[in-house]
Amino acid sequence: MAEGRGEALKGSGVAHGIAIGRAHLLARSELEVRQYTIERRDVVHEIGRLTSGFNAVRLELDHLRSHISAEAPPEVRAFLDLHQMILDDALLAEAPRDLIRTRLINAEWALTIQLEEVCRQFQAIDDEYLRERSTDVRQVVERVLSALSEGRPTRMALPRKIAPGERLILVAQDLAPADMLHLKDRADIDLAGFVTELGGPTSHTAILARSLGLPAVVGVERARKVIEEGDLVVIDADSDLVVVNPTEAEVAAFHRRLREETEHRVQLRKLKGRLSRTKDGVAVELLANIELPQDARDALEAGADGIGLFRSEFLFMDRNELPTEDEQYEAYAKVARAMKGKPVVIRTLDIGADKVLTAAARESLGMGKGAPRPESNPALGLRAIRYCLAYPELFLTQLRAILRASEVGTVRILVPMLAHAHEIEQALAFVARAKEQLKERRQKYDGRILVGGMIEVPAAALSVPQFVEKLKFLSIGTNDLIQYTLAIDRSDSSVAHLYDHLHPAVLHLIGQTIKGGARAGVPVAVCGELAGELEMTELLLGMGLRQFSMHPSQILPVKEQLFELSTKDAVRLAGRVLRESDPIRIRAALDHRRSEPDPAPVRSAA
Ligand code: PEP
Ligand code: MG
Repeated sequence: MAEGRGEALKGSGVAHGIAIGRAHLLARSELEVRQYTIERRDVVHEIGRLTSGFNAVRLELDHLRSHISAEAPPEVRAFLDLHQMILDDALLAEAPRDLIRTRLINAEWALTIQLEEVCRQFQAIDDEYLRERSTDVRQVVERVLSALSEGRPTRMALPRKIAPGERLILVAQDLAPADMLHLKDRADIDLAGFVTELGGPTSHTAILARSLGLPAVVGVERARKVIEEGDLVVIDADSDLVVVNPTEAEVAAFHRRLREETEHRVQLRKLKGRLSRTKDGVAVELLANIELPQDARDALEAGADGIGLFRSEFLFMDRNELPTEDEQYEAYAKVARAMKGKPVVIRTLDIGADKVLTAAARESLGMGKGAPRPESNPALGLRAIRYCLAYPELFLTQLRAILRASEVGTVRILVPMLAHAHEIEQALAFVARAKEQLKERRQKYDGRILVGGMIEVPAAALSVPQFVEKLKFLSIGTNDLIQYTLAIDRSDSSVAHLYDHLHPAVLHLIGQTIKGGARAGVPVAVCGELAGELEMTELLLGMGLRQFSMHPSQILPVKEQLFELSTKDAVRLAGRVLRESDPIRIRAALDHRRSEPDPAPVRSAA
């Protein structure tokens, strides 16, 4: 058992609730490799694959070395030389071959076993400089693994050693959105939650975790130092805590809270059929955010008034061939049909930053195989609408698929990450072109389909009067709006404490956007995570928001809260908060409101 028995670790809670399970520690490399046994007759082939992987990285390093500019600091060459040495070291080059021969396992598996062995040896070294070189070994191995995968989607290995009936808590340095997508498909593991050392609460990994309904805490710095394989772990996402090896009394208390939460959820279900209104009768639309077509089921179960955000990019990730127009059409039409005439807002591809296509998919777009990942600063790089405008065929294919799906429901198009008015004009020109193409093919679509835009960068929030001239609706992506306003990478745990949704600048941009939309008669929604935060409901309502789009699991709790709020009080609160320039006092004003007598618990449906 870990020395940190009963230790509580702090991070950022994701989703809500408590999870209790046994820890399974994932090595970074374990996330990325496929593990399988091979036949004896395939040993030579497998060793050949390994050799080709090493050779490919050798060529890559040679290529990099021959392109070092004269002004580059000498450390660059030293770094490449070090990686070359590691690559040629028998410890890494030879031992995995023996493992393939003796254990009859695939090249990737053999390489990661040896990696862990080498890292263990490094950790035992007394010299800190040398100890830290294990990071270089890892990086070299990751290059070889990537060469071996030849762009195949990454796959997470099955966790080992889980007793029947036990639930699992994954503990990892980081999980990529692609890993989460993979987890989503796994029916064979009973995952209770996960803990990561890196990542912010609004990273796309966190958002996907929420859509899996998994309590999680991210940005837990020493997680893999304190938690050991098989430890009993409790995740308390609401308190941003991970408790390692809790005492019996603590476990009993957590079980009690779990039971209470379950009872509350049962009570909340009674609200499903009720219209969402404030205490003073103002109607508010509660919409769902979804990542994959099958998530529409959760939206319906929560009684959503529609889909306010379908993050279409998840159809494009974790695969080597991009989805065809027909495949996309099926996905969009499935959601449109399921929602039976309720609005379905499909966001066009928001790829880039932490949501990446596989190497093979990128290659199919014409990005050369050997080409470096183009973004050195991906959140500010070729992302979302910028990506789509750079790859017209990709964009047109998606637009045709969305337009075709508009025939079977109430579909709307939402364009992400707009900053310039000319991006809107170009996007609208693409929509017109896609319509033309469908007309030529005699395929039907809803000619009155609405096109809206996301307000995610400060430039957009400050351009609302111009944007509303061209767009039929707006949706505020607060996750990115906070990131870009405060210059905080939303997936970087080291600056997560500065990612403050109550920063006055952020609140002003949100308030201004809502007001600007109302003035022009253009509907405005919030579809970032703030829309589902109970702490924010009254403030957003008071700013004039009438469309909240959130993860389906938050719809009923927000609805419950709305029943207890009056718009008059909410407007007063918003006025007070927007006049305030100190985030601490803003927080105090909200806390004060929330600590006033609790709304009566839901007992029966009206
Ligand atoms: C947002 O930025 O708030 C948003 C809803 O989009 P995403 O989280 O997918 O970037
Ligand atoms: Mg966004």
